[in-house]
Amino acid sequence: MKNKTILIVDDTIVNLDILGELLKQYDVIDAISGEDAFDALENIKVDLILLDIMMPDMDGFEVCQKLKSNQTTKNIPIIFITAKTDEDSIEKAYDVGGIDYITKPFKPKELLARVRRELHLQELQAELKLLASTDSMTRLYNRRYFTKTSKHTLDLSKREKQNLSIIMLDIDKFKNVNDTYGHQVGDDVIITLANKLIEHQRKSDIICRYGGEEFVILLPNTSLENSEIVAQKIRKDIESLTIKIASNENLKFTISLGISQVDLEHENNIELALKRADNALYEAKETGRNKVCTKT
Ligand SMILES: [Mg+2]
Repeated sequence: MKNKTILIVDDTIVNLDILGELLKQYDVIDAISGEDAFDALENIKVDLILLDIMMPDMDGFEVCQKLKSNQTTKNIPIIFITAKTDEDSIEKAYDVGGIDYITKPFKPKELLARVRRELHLQELQAELKLLASTDSMTRLYNRRYFTKTSKHTLDLSKREKQNLSIIMLDIDKFKNVNDTYGHQVGDDVIITLANKLIEHQRKSDIICRYGGEEFVILLPNTSLENSEIVAQKIRKDIESLTIKIASNENLKFTISLGISQVDLEHENNIELALKRADNALYEAKETGRNKVCTKT
């Protein structure tokens, strides 16, 4: 696993040296002021910040408040390390968003233990977040995450006045696959399709496993025509695919796809566009499968 990065902010060089030495198992970055810390954070992803309180210009409380009000830094845990031991300072440290408070002179082993605990908690949190937002079989986003993020994506599309298209797709005659080869093979087919969708994913596309064998792709800044090009590429790719299953048997499958676009002027969620994509998908099924249909 990638080594954790810790930013130490302290106006006293000796303190930076001592802490740096103590935390040498991690990647440590020094900052001698709040401004210095903000500069560092613009270029480097940091897992934890150790923050001094008494500094000239901007004190640690203010630095912390600034970091907590910034979208890209607000989730970085901050541990205050300070010579201030009065209760008001401790209370304030937590009020402004600090996660822990260590007083100087600190006990090295205790400090290390607290740092370790904080980094571990963070990992657990990240894992939970991933579990809550993804489908465990395919690692794609789950429906719950999709619903949540689609609102945000729609807002962005409205603001930027950019098209927002939707592809809904599912595996043709998937029940036959399960009935003929069993659910294990059925799962393999779903995972194979998911991986193909990821291969075709462009930077801002959001792919979701919407239901059993049903997937949805949200395509920001993409016209219907371009969505159709994307959809046809995926369809052809799947069509040409052969999956090896047990006893040297090969399996081929196809998918049907429905496309729609959100009416940015009149629609405030993607529900109707999803419905249109679903109708288009239904039409693709009804008119022969292994094809792409569009509903405007
Ligand atoms: Mg200081």
